[in-house]
Amino acid sequence: MSVPIERSRARLRAAVAGWKAAGARVGVVPTMGALHAGHISLVEAARAACDRVVVTLFINPRQFNNPADLESYPRTEVSDAAKLAPLGVDLLYVPDPDQIYPEGFATNVSVGGISDGLCGAHRPGHFDGVATVVTKLLLQTGAERAFFGEKDYQQLLIVRRLVRDLDIPCTITGCPTVREPDGLALSSRNARLDATARAIAPALNCAMLGAAAALAQGAAAAPALAAARQDIRAAGFDEVEYLELRDAATLAPVETADRPARLLAAAWVGGVRLIDNIAVPPDT
Ligand code: AMP
Repeated sequence: MSVPIERSRARLRAAVAGWKAAGARVGVVPTMGALHAGHISLVEAARAACDRVVVTLFINPRQFNNPADLESYPRTEVSDAAKLAPLGVDLLYVPDPDQIYPEGFATNVSVGGISDGLCGAHRPGHFDGVATVVTKLLLQTGAERAFFGEKDYQQLLIVRRLVRDLDIPCTITGCPTVREPDGLALSSRNARLDATARAIAPALNCAMLGAAAALAQGAAAAPALAAARQDIRAAGFDEVEYLELRDAATLAPVETADRPARLLAAAWVGGVRLIDNIAVPPDT
């Protein structure tokens, strides 16, 4: 059993058009490959909700603000295809670069406001790259449903916003973050953690859970977050890039969790940048 791989936009469109003509609901799961159980959970959600499932694999150069990060990003197409084979994926779209960025490509999709803080403040251009490629992948696949992880919470909200603003006829579904048993959120970049950094890494989620519990009880954000930052540093992280409490829907800063809120963080350990986020109060 293997998954058909398509590299051409025209042939992808022809395949999807055939499915739609037969009345199928088509779902898409955009990825950059190096698939892990987090990605697989999105594929399973798509499989459960749709008749046909397209997974895309495109390492999008425009969303890497750091050339070394792009250079070292894992490229594992063969094993990715093997992981998808038993899941009933109908097509793996691995576009040739010119299928996404043809000669002379000059358009940028930029989602205002919600892209500005958090990762947007620390990774210049990142979310424009994400918004542009997601717009293209949704239009190229023509999927009616698309599945994204809450792991990248700011990205999920940006995608919801651009789909609304640009009238793209696609429903966005957010799926819960899949974690290691010790709480570390699965990420393709976790493979870069050495043994020491891997042992320290779960401290990020652990400190966030502690802060979220206090915030859910009505604690003020500033002292609760200062204490959590200190715990993360004391555990061995090199830097806490940000740790912030935001409104869960708008990402506006909030002082207390007196409405559905989200605690979001990025921190560096052993040369690897990890991100995480959790609901406040916690999801039941
Ligand atoms: P990436 O390949 O990192 O661009 O991620 C592709 C999709 O998988 C995005 O929608 C991510 O939010 C989602 N994803 C990544 N890690 C996880 C995880 N640990 N749990 C759930 N979804 C994830």
